[in-house]
Amino acid sequence: MIAAMSCIFCAIAAGEVPATVVHQSERVVAFRDLNPVAPVHVLVIPREHYRNVVELSADVATAAELLEVVAEVANTENVADGFRTVFNTGGDAGQEVDHVHAHVIGGRQMQWPPG
Ligand code: 5GP
Ligand code: ZN
Repeated sequence: MIAAMSCIFCAIAAGEVPATVVHQSERVVAFRDLNPVAPVHVLVIPREHYRNVVELSADVATAAELLEVVAEVANTENVADGFRTVFNTGGDAGQEVDHVHAHVIGGRQMQWPPG
């Protein structure tokens, strides 16, 4: 798995690169974004390297656990009443890290449509 070996999020999941981790379980890790765009900005990832949400969707158990952690993070970060969950997929959507991640963003008023 060449991609996984050089993947920054695989390294964070393995504890090889530091991050502010807010949740860890068998299949899922959540940590604060290095460059937050809102008061709450947490990234929720599967430990396993899937490139995007399309690949993740084939692993139903992990996809379900990831969504459970999104809900848990929204609760523990006190934004459950209003937050945004984003999976950027591919270049047109601005995906920069090719290890699927749910952005959990909240703590301020959001605009719609996004840019
Ligand atoms: P994307 O554009 O791929 O959806 O978002 C990637 C996100 O990962 C960005 O919000 C960026 O700030 C964050 N990020 C990139 N590298 C690191 C890192 O090494 N540590 C952490 N905590 N966040 C990162
Ligand atoms: Zn990875």
